Amino acid sequence: MTLHLPFDNSYARLPGVFYARLDPTPVKAPGLLAFNTALAAELGVSPGEALEQAQVFSGNAVPEGAEPLAQLYAGHQFGNWNPQLGDGRAILLGEVVDGQGRRRDVQLKGSGPTPFSRNGDGRAWLGPVLREYVVSEAMHALGIPTTRALAAVATGEEIRRETWLPGAVLTRVAASHIRVGTFQVFAARGQKDAVQRLTHYTIDRHYPEADGPRGLLVAVARAQAELVAAWMSVGFIHGVMNTDNCALSGETIDYGPCAFLDRFHPMRVYSSIDRMGRYAYGNQPNIAVWNVAQLATALITLADDQDAAVEEYTQIVQGMGETLRAAWLRRFRAKLGLSREEPGDAALIGDLMDRMAENQADFTNTFRALATGAARDQFLDPAAFDEWEAGWRRRLEGEPDPEVVMRAANPAFIPRNHRMEEMIAAAVAGDMAPFERLMSVLARPYEDQSEAADLMRPPTEDEEVPATFCGT
Ligand code: AMP
Ligand code: MG
Repeated sequence: MTLHLPFDNSYARLPGVFYARLDPTPVKAPGLLAFNTALAAELGVSPGEALEQAQVFSGNAVPEGAEPLAQLYAGHQFGNWNPQLGDGRAILLGEVVDGQGRRRDVQLKGSGPTPFSRNGDGRAWLGPVLREYVVSEAMHALGIPTTRALAAVATGEEIRRETWLPGAVLTRVAASHIRVGTFQVFAARGQKDAVQRLTHYTIDRHYPEADGPRGLLVAVARAQAELVAAWMSVGFIHGVMNTDNCALSGETIDYGPCAFLDRFHPMRVYSSIDRMGRYAYGNQPNIAVWNVAQLATALITLADDQDAAVEEYTQIVQGMGETLRAAWLRRFRAKLGLSREEPGDAALIGDLMDRMAENQADFTNTFRALATGAARDQFLDPAAFDEWEAGWRRRLEGEPDPEVVMRAANPAFIPRNHRMEEMIAAAVAGDMAPFERLMSVLARPYEDQSEAADLMRPPTEDEEVPATFCGT
């Protein structure tokens, strides 16, 4: 084999309570759908040939140096405690240290049942695999911390969902897969040693400057605040912000029923399973704080003086709201072309967004068009924009480089939901051209690409995808 991954597996060296060791389950007829050559180079992976890639990234051949395992975790799903989840359809092959010295997980998703599969089949179908591939890579190109996609392989097997669908395996690369739920499972079981061990491990791996559990909590609160502010700034709705989908690394993880907004509305929800709107666009900051509060609760088990820790951690969690607000303001100022800070800025941004919601303005296109003077066309009643614009123009006076700032903060291209559905339908029919095109355009989201104007267009009523189903 010429395909080689330079494994160095630290999670596998942790005690056995953290995982179950097992190999991926082979599939019938693996066929390579996509391979991320640039990411492979970054990871020091020698890519080999397509045939080998299909074998390794379907799980049919376990590469040298891999120590496959499924990780244990628990989590709050839509607010309800689930005492045991874990990798039910994913297997960590191992870790590589990339060219910049960063340790990265290489994980197969859809690789067959594990001891944590509960009633699931351990598999994924082509649609969610390609969705995650495209959206995670688009997120990376937008400059937002995220897991990455190294490969997608069709399994040649059909899997049962509402109907029979083609199976696929995604190879996901992540700073780690340590979640709030990883801490929760051991805290809930009273396994203090495991919480302690995991805390040390996470600090070493992600926040070496952090001082103990308290330092870890501070660092994670900051990373989550920055992450959610970044999502808000590009109109991203994660869709399943459960504590098991909240990574300590601060990366976006688990692209299930996620979507980017078309028409702006703060209470917009895309996930068909989110009936209460818990994870609506505008609720995401509150939920991020709630998730970090669950981490705090798990870490409190380590404190000698519980009462003091409760008080201290409560302050950290409450302070996260302010960090998030500051990050949000910084990002939205840039979206308006503002480099300086003035007291009325939050009100100016809020006023624009209220008007956008009332006028069904497309989130991405409105902000992008601020720099070109065409934003008013995005409003049902363009006068609503004009009224706001006058104040904004006054505020822009004396700003050094508003156009440059705006172009760097307002992408032209996001993975629009209706285009994703089109891409998936084509791929199911064997046509990967729409996938290739999306990947190439979304790799440069801040550049004008006149040949891709159709990918900027919001969906027509017919094209609109009302709900995105969970990626199972
Ligand atoms: P997710 O909604 O992808 O975050 O998954 C939540 C939990 O359900 C995780 O423990 C997954 O491993 C598990 N899960 C989701 N889909 C499947 C499946 N098809 N087979 C087994 N477990 C699954
Ligand atoms: Mg998950």
